[in-house]
Amino acid sequence: AGMSSEYLEVRGLSVSFDGFKAVDNVDLTLLQGDLRFLIGPNGAGKTTLVDAITGLVPATGSATKSGVELVGKKVHHIARLGVGRTFQTASVFEDLSVLQNLDIAAGAGRSALTLLRRRKEVLPQIEEALETIGLTRQRDTPAGILAHGQKQWLEIGMLLVQNADVLLLDEPVAGMSLEEREETGNLLRRIGGERTVVVVEHDMDFMRAFATSVTVLAAGKVLSEGTVAQVQADPKVQAVYLGT
Ligand code: ADP
Repeated sequence: AGMSSEYLEVRGLSVSFDGFKAVDNVDLTLLQGDLRFLIGPNGAGKTTLVDAITGLVPATGSATKSGVELVGKKVHHIARLGVGRTFQTASVFEDLSVLQNLDIAAGAGRSALTLLRRRKEVLPQIEEALETIGLTRQRDTPAGILAHGQKQWLEIGMLLVQNADVLLLDEPVAGMSLEEREETGNLLRRIGGERTVVVVEHDMDFMRAFATSVTVLAAGKVLSEGTVAQVQADPKVQAVYLGT
């Protein structure tokens, strides 16, 4: 599997809480460039699945990134393998500037960063990230006074400078204005391409506008998978959403 072109390959992944299977034997294949939306009713296991892939909760089964097993590894190790995530509440250093936040994130994934390497490799990457997340003009602004949407974008920028190429985003547009949602969708398209993005989402309009593929979870299992049109036409999906 070492030569596999699959960015993220999940096989038979399960998570139990006191015997209750929150994630139940999930298979998932993500390719480079996927902008995959993960949807499903409350309690379906979406966040727990992301937690399992990123090492926050113990799991059984397998999740590999480019053939490298993630299950059983620690959170920071998984992050160093290029698997990054955001949470529903952005966790940025509020007192530090946008630039300082990116600087810290860039250093976090690298051991013994020499000054030379920093200048040649990290600073251009930070500039590029600033541009990608649209915060070049806010570089010296304390993160604490950024707008809600801008904080979320900064968090995504922090993953980019950590060289994450699998990004798992937990409800990135929750609480955002319509304009910010549009901006976020465009940002996700920009960072996709050579990366893989998984978005846990409740906002169906946002999903319809930006998803390249969708996985529907219900009761810990994959209920349906395909394009937006395919999952929307699936009677099983209509049943869990409409209760018919
Ligand atoms: P979703 O993100 O789809 O809303 P979650 O992954 O948050 O669903 O939760 C899936 C199920 O697992 C729910 O029934 C939830 O109550 C349960 N669960 C989540 N985390 C824990 C935990 N730490 N301990 C016990 N049960 C949990």
